[in-house]
Amino acid sequence: MKRVPRPKPPEGFALIRLLCGGICNTDLELQRGYYGFSGVPGHEFVGEVVEASRRDLIGRRVVGEINLCCGGCDWCRKGLGRHCPGRSVLGIVKHPGAFREFFTLPERNLHVIPDSIPTEQAVFVEPLAAAGEILDQVSIPCSSPVAVLGDGKLGLLVAQVLRAYGYPVHQYGRHKTKLRIAARAGVETEMVRERVPASEYDWVVDATGSPKGLADAVRMTRPRGTIIMKSTVHGLAGFDTAPIIVNEITLVGSRCGRFEPAIGLLRDGLINVSDMISERMPLDRAPAAFRAAAKSGVLKVLLT
Ligand SMILES: [Zn+2]
Ligand SMILES: [Zn+2]
Repeated sequence: MKRVPRPKPPEGFALIRLLCGGICNTDLELQRGYYGFSGVPGHEFVGEVVEASRRDLIGRRVVGEINLCCGGCDWCRKGLGRHCPGRSVLGIVKHPGAFREFFTLPERNLHVIPDSIPTEQAVFVEPLAAAGEILDQVSIPCSSPVAVLGDGKLGLLVAQVLRAYGYPVHQYGRHKTKLRIAARAGVETEMVRERVPASEYDWVVDATGSPKGLADAVRMTRPRGTIIMKSTVHGLAGFDTAPIIVNEITLVGSRCGRFEPAIGLLRDGLINVSDMISERMPLDRAPAAFRAAAKSGVLKVLLT
């Protein structure tokens, strides 16, 4: 990306050197002008702490929570800084991102990565935390089948996380090779050809990233069932909402999650992220890496 000078970390912030970055769909959408952010992108990263007031962090490999919160409001006091109204977000809202050699983040956002987790796996902690957020929001009875719609990066992580927690997971997608990754983790997979099955699940996760995904999810959900919405779709979702009311379906929006359980899942070898890496490119080839990440069929592109 652009050449930028080494930033001076403010009080309480660490200076971090990028070891590995992951390109996610949000980064691609930023480039298309959503969110009105034009700075350095990048929020999925593993870095090495170069400067920090906490000596124990220096030289350590870290990942970092992407929401920079005020620390003093009601949300922050409840430990929900992810909803702090004054927040900025690494590489997305008012804070320069991680796709450059050096960047800053508050020390309290950082989590040291255990030595047993390779850097290329640890870079998945942020999206894995977002996948795990579902289980912090809804309590799904343990033997209840969960349908996951979509076999992109987030869909594959959601399916694997739910499987790791013991749920029978049925994943619906359009790409054989991607579904195979989930199948190896014990997920039952199904190719969607025309229509998804009607009224079959009490729990449905929409991770399609497409405007049609929610309509499909509504179709699949049984009366009184719950849909967890994991796709940020821009623009209006144009579909018939009557079945949501008639069938009394609960819609749950879901975004970022806690890092600790995500790190635990990787440490225990419960999530196969290695198969999700499509390409690795050096940071100075970031524009080409972004083009590669935007191609259909491509999963995670890493910047190294
Ligand atoms: Zn992301
Ligand atoms: Zn706050």
